[in-house]
Amino acid sequence: MQRSELTIDLGAVRRNVKRLLDVLDGAEVWAVVKANGYGHGAVDVAGAALGAGASVLCVATVPEGLALREKFGETRILVMGPTATSRELARARDTHLELVASSGEVPEGVRVHVKLDTGMGRWGLSELPEPGSNVVGLMSHLASADCDPEFTETQIQRFREATEPYRHLSRHLANSAGALRFPGARFDAARCGIAIYGLSPFGGDPGEDGLEPALHWRSRLAQVRLLGAGESTGYGRRFLVERPTWIGIVPVGYADGFRRDLTGTEIRVGGELRRVVGTVSMDALTVELDRELPVGTPVTLIGDGVLAEDHARVAGTINYEIVCGINGDPARTRRVVVDS
Ligand SMILES: *Cc1c(COP(=O)(O)O)cnc(C)c1O
Repeated sequence: MQRSELTIDLGAVRRNVKRLLDVLDGAEVWAVVKANGYGHGAVDVAGAALGAGASVLCVATVPEGLALREKFGETRILVMGPTATSRELARARDTHLELVASSGEVPEGVRVHVKLDTGMGRWGLSELPEPGSNVVGLMSHLASADCDPEFTETQIQRFREATEPYRHLSRHLANSAGALRFPGARFDAARCGIAIYGLSPFGGDPGEDGLEPALHWRSRLAQVRLLGAGESTGYGRRFLVERPTWIGIVPVGYADGFRRDLTGTEIRVGGELRRVVGTVSMDALTVELDRELPVGTPVTLIGDGVLAEDHARVAGTINYEIVCGINGDPARTRRVVVDS
């Protein structure tokens, strides 16, 4: 039996991109597929997003851009992070990647987007220089579109004022949260990541924004046993039972990306929600059952109503980190791409 199976539904990606295009009302969707498409598989997601109408692919690094260039010969690819070395710059030039200038120097011989810092306080110039002839875009990044409308409006205002003289360039500010909640942030394009995967940038139920999770992570019960009163399961004996209790062992642990701080979260076992108990170990986790179930009973770790957002809340993190953390190594999980 495979330890677990990761299913990526490209139909869901397409529907999410279409949903964003609807919301954006004329502005373009640029699909952010950095970090291997937030753990979903950059090439598969990029193909689906482009097919649904996304216009540009965005990544964080030049190597990520080069990998996509091999599959997508003609597509515009924007590298949003800083270019590390002159060798990377040369490779970017040869393969027609578009780069971002976020400090004093504007690279030559490539199409460049100049990044203005309107409040993120990270990469970005505090003032826009007069754009040179190879500058095709002006951008900035929202710091708190998921949680602080007032500051977001300030950033939108700053960006609008600073870029107003350059309306002939492509102006892009919004991430997923900005695209979904701030009409003023739309400009010419929105760089959408989390939402194209059907995950909520707000940490709640993605269905509320018309989004559909594209990733399912499933496994099976590998062992089922009855703990007697006074017995425990796992390291540190953190789940110690007072009465006889059925437990199931699932062959997925923190080395697979099911984090150690997910104790207490719920997963689906044979269709019912069950609590993860005891310490998550490297290669296994334990669920509390209400009765004996057969070995091989299907388990859903993410999907079928089990939300990455709920796991994130238990672990004190964000859904982004939950999905990026899944270990896609074929030695540990079988990856299946479907198109519903
Ligand atoms: C990652 C990233 C995005 C996408 O953000 P989401 O919240 O995933 O939509 C957009 N712009 C920049 C500069 C980014 O680094």
